[in-house]
Amino acid sequence: MAQHPWLLHYPKEVPPTYPYPKHNLAEFLIQSAAKYPARTALHFMGKEMTYSELLTCSYRFANALRKLGAKKGDRVAIMLPNCPQLVIAYYGTLLAGGIVVMTNPLYMPRELEHQLKDSGASIVVTLDLLFQRVKGVVPATEVRHVVVTSIKDYLPFPKNLLYPLKAKKDGLKREVEYGDTVHAFVKLLNASPSTSVYTEVDAENDLALLQYTGGTTGVSKGVMLSHLNITANTVQNGLWAYKRSESQERYLAALPFFHVFGLTVLMNQAVMLGGCMYLIPKFEVSQILQTIDRFKPTVFPGAPTMYIALINHPDILKYDLSSINICVSGAAPLPHEVQNKFEEITGGRLIEGYGLTESSPVTHANNIWESRKLGSIGIPFPDTFAKIVDPDSGDELPQGEIGELAVRGPQVMKGYWNRPDETAKVLKDGWLRTGDMARMDEDGFFFIMDRMKDMIIAGGFNIFPREIEEVLFEHPAIEEAAALGVPDKYRGETVKAYIVLKQGETLDAKDLEKWCRERLAAYKVPHIYEFRESLPKTIAGKVLRRKLVEEDSQQQEQV
Ligand code: AMP
Repeated sequence: MAQHPWLLHYPKEVPPTYPYPKHNLAEFLIQSAAKYPARTALHFMGKEMTYSELLTCSYRFANALRKLGAKKGDRVAIMLPNCPQLVIAYYGTLLAGGIVVMTNPLYMPRELEHQLKDSGASIVVTLDLLFQRVKGVVPATEVRHVVVTSIKDYLPFPKNLLYPLKAKKDGLKREVEYGDTVHAFVKLLNASPSTSVYTEVDAENDLALLQYTGGTTGVSKGVMLSHLNITANTVQNGLWAYKRSESQERYLAALPFFHVFGLTVLMNQAVMLGGCMYLIPKFEVSQILQTIDRFKPTVFPGAPTMYIALINHPDILKYDLSSINICVSGAAPLPHEVQNKFEEITGGRLIEGYGLTESSPVTHANNIWESRKLGSIGIPFPDTFAKIVDPDSGDELPQGEIGELAVRGPQVMKGYWNRPDETAKVLKDGWLRTGDMARMDEDGFFFIMDRMKDMIIAGGFNIFPREIEEVLFEHPAIEEAAALGVPDKYRGETVKAYIVLKQGETLDAKDLEKWCRERLAAYKVPHIYEFRESLPKTIAGKVLRRKLVEEDSQQQEQV
C-alpha cells in the first residue's frame, strides 16, 4: 500500500506533487490578459469588461495607490460586495505590493473598527452606501485615505460620475464628502496612468492577504496568507476540478469574495484560467435562477445553503439550468439529498470540499470527475498531508479513529498577524490543527464528525459565540450570557442566546435583538432568546455549552 492511502485514488492526470509558481499573485491576471486580451473577464449588471481592460484598470489603481503614498507591505482594506471595483482594487493592491484586507460589507462600526485597527490598514476602499459607517470609525484607526465607489459606477470609466445620488429609502446615505483624504474611485482611476506597475515579491514570505477569522479560539484575528499560499491553493483547485482544455469556463460568482472561499476557488481560479465571472453582489434565488437560464454559466461554487435555497424554489423547473457543470460545495456539511437533487436537476456535478481560512482555504475535496464518496469531504489535495490526532496529546491516532484533523501543505498560513501566542496554539512544525473532529476511512477519504471549536455556521457564514457574548455582556441589565448554534432547517444552524438578568432588571427579547442589531452584522444577531435564572457551569465556572445544546434538543423533541 502507498504510504498515504488517498494517493491510490488520485485521478490519473493529477500529479501528487506540483511545482507551484513563486510569483506575485497578480501574475495570474497579467498572464491571462496577455493570452486572452479580448476575452470577457467580468460580467456585471448587463455590462462586460475584457481581460485587457481589467488589467489596465488594475494598473491605474496600483498607480493611484502609489500616488496616495502606499508602499510595499501597506494594508489596503476592501469593503465591497462582488463588483468590478473589488476585482480591480484587489489586483491593483497586489501589483502595488500591498496586502489586501478583505472586509465584510455587513460589518457594523464595532466590528469594522476592530479590523481596521488590528490590521493597521492605511487605505479603505468602500461603497458610498457604507461611507458614513467607515467615516465614523476612521479617527480611531490609522486609515489615511478612503476611496469610495458606487455600485452603479461602470468601468472602464465613461464620464458618468454618479455622485452625489439621493439617499435611498433604506436609510443608508449615499452622500460622500470628497476632499484630500476621500476620493471617488472612478475619478482616481481616470487621473492615474495605465502604465504597468509590478512589485517583485518573496512569494513564500511576503503577504498577499490578511483574512480575518475567529479561528479555533473565537478571537477575531488576521490570517497571514502569502502570495505562494494563495497561488498554490488556486493551482491545486485547478488540478482537481478542471479537465485540461482551452475552453472558457463561465463562473457564477455568487460566493462573496470577502471570504477566502470565494476569493480563491472563484476569483483567483477564474482569473488564472481566463474564465468569465458573472458577478452577483447579493444572493437572491430568483436572480440566480434567471442568470443561469440566460447566461449559461458552467461553474457554480457555493455553500450548502445556496444549493438548498435553489432546489427548494417553487419555480426551479421553469428554468434551464443545464449549463451548470462543475459545483464545489464548502464551508459547511453538504446533505446527501441536496447533492443528489441538485445533480438531478442540473445534470452537473456537485462535490463537497473542505477547508478553513488558515489554509487559503481548501485542503480536501472529492474529485469533480471521479473518486468521490457521499458524506465525505474527499481526499487531500496534491502536496497536502492530513492526519487525525489526539486533541490533547497531538499524537497521531490509528486509521478509523475519531480525533482532531491536522493538515500540512503549501496553502497553510504563515500565522496570525501580531499574535504569536494564538499562532503557537494551532501551528507547529508546519502542521495546522483545524479544531474539527474527523476520521479517515481505509481508502484515505476523510469525514468531518464534529467541531471542537464553538463556531456556529449559519447560512454559510461563520459566527463566533464569543463575539456575540461580548455584545450581550455590554448590556447593563445582563448578568450572564451564552450564545450557541441550534439546528435550523434552512440556515443549517441559527444563533440562540441564553440570558441571565441582573437582579431587579427586566428586558425583553425585542429590546435585546435591537441592541444586537446595532452592534453586530445582521447574520450574527441571535434569532432566539431564552431568559433563565442561571446557566449550567463546570466547577471552574465555564459555561457548559454541551449541556445547553442537549437541553435545547430535548425541548425540540417535546414540541
Ligand atoms: P472558515 O475559516 O470561515 O473558512 O471556516 C472553516 C470552518 O468551516 C472549518 O474549520 C469547518 O469547521 C467548517 N467547514 C468547512 N467546510 C466544511 C465541510 N465540508 N463540512 C463541515 N464543516 C466544514
